[in-house]
Amino acid sequence: MNSSIKPFLLLLVFLWMIIMGGATGADHVLVIGLDGADWDVIQPLMEEGEMPNLQKLMEEGQHGNLTTTLPVESPVAWTSMSTGTTPGKHGIYGFIERDGNTFVPTTSEDVEQNRVWDYAGEEGEVVVVNVPQTFPPQEVNGSLISGYLSIEDAGYTYPEELQEELERDGYRIETLSDEFEEGKEEEFLERLNVTVEKRTEAAEMLLEREDWRLGWVVYTGLDRLQHYFWKYQGGESDYAEVIDDHYRKLDRQVGELVEQAGDNTTVMVVSDHGFGPLEKNVYLNTWLKKEGYLQLEGEKASGFLADIGLTQQNVVDSLSGLGLLEPVKGFFDFLGFNPGADLPEPGLSDIDLETSRAYAGNYGGKIYLTGNAGDREELLKELEAELESLEDPDTGRKIFEVYRPEEIYTGDMEGAPDLVLESRGPYRAVGFLGHQSVVKQPPEKTGTHRRDGMYILSSGAGDSDADITDISPTILKALGQPVPDEMDGVSILRHPTDR
Ligand SMILES: [Zn+2]
Repeated sequence: MNSSIKPFLLLLVFLWMIIMGGATGADHVLVIGLDGADWDVIQPLMEEGEMPNLQKLMEEGQHGNLTTTLPVESPVAWTSMSTGTTPGKHGIYGFIERDGNTFVPTTSEDVEQNRVWDYAGEEGEVVVVNVPQTFPPQEVNGSLISGYLSIEDAGYTYPEELQEELERDGYRIETLSDEFEEGKEEEFLERLNVTVEKRTEAAEMLLEREDWRLGWVVYTGLDRLQHYFWKYQGGESDYAEVIDDHYRKLDRQVGELVEQAGDNTTVMVVSDHGFGPLEKNVYLNTWLKKEGYLQLEGEKASGFLADIGLTQQNVVDSLSGLGLLEPVKGFFDFLGFNPGADLPEPGLSDIDLETSRAYAGNYGGKIYLTGNAGDREELLKELEAELESLEDPDTGRKIFEVYRPEEIYTGDMEGAPDLVLESRGPYRAVGFLGHQSVVKQPPEKTGTHRRDGMYILSSGAGDSDADITDISPTILKALGQPVPDEMDGVSILRHPTDR
């Protein structure tokens, strides 16, 4: 070939590749969420050839760690993943939020950003199954089944008629009643298995009959399983294999969904955070109380709801506000929930916000100053210094890294905690009251969330880390749609020629 034409031809080929690569998005993107999935469990299983479906996707494309939000909590993380924004913009910082002098559950109605399926839905249909923080169900161009924490009798699908059909087929949502109970391990595991299978059936049904562009299916039982069964991993007990078995099972679900999705689908497997051992809880409100920053009111609350920071009355108030009180009466009965009854243990709502200067949220290491904080900057500096130097009394190990919201969030940060704590090791910050020691062995849970989750993307190549806000931009890029300016993340999708 004439040597002066050769570079010209190469340039043409190169331009053609750029144009084709840029203009043709995938027909479909399928996101499969595995709540709490961690590379440290996946990798050894893969090496044994026991996660063939994940392995195949990984070999075809790219993978890496997925750094999650602070707080490292599921509703916060899934909302960042599905909006492409930090909590400072989407407004979800946990399962509950302060509302004046009380605490109420956060719902889909509190999410202040569009979800990626709203954008994808502008150009075609979407299928959304069990993504946390999507209850009550919002209208989408396609079908949506709400995720944790949905309420059965209250309507958890869009369109509404879908629910009847799902229930005929034995579909299961996860509710508070799916919480683990000591001594009922077998029932727990059995229910988990059925829930997973029904979830896959429902997703397959929707993926088959909808003309979808974006499908997003999440399996949430793994999170709960790891919290309670972590201590058995690799041991001698009957439950030594249950976590590994569940990962193997999830790999089979991934295989089925990928097959159902068909050709020209970009697949992403993602977790909202990783998982690791939990050695000790750190009771932040107990610490604040001991240090004189927090006082309690006389009022008492009890039980699981109090533990997560809810009193019975504020649950009733908040659900009535959503028009959900009537439909969830049976759910309250199950919890032994009796609004107005005398309650023996203090909960978050018993913190006296008039006299306290600061308090901690239920989970995730969130410190809030009150209106009574005095010189806020001075108090923040004091708390930062003291919390940074807080040690595990048994090992002398420092427990927390402390952040100001402006260091980790974007947007208006309305409702953000004043300080956010990241655990440096096997610790979990909790806000429960009624504990005497600040740093203590956890009663039941032996596994906890870690900042590094995982992702596998069926296109691209190699090993590269990403941020949880990168997932939505990546989905839109794969679909050939523009990434909205509000999104904080960037697409991690590399062109195949970038290898
Ligand atoms: Zn989670």
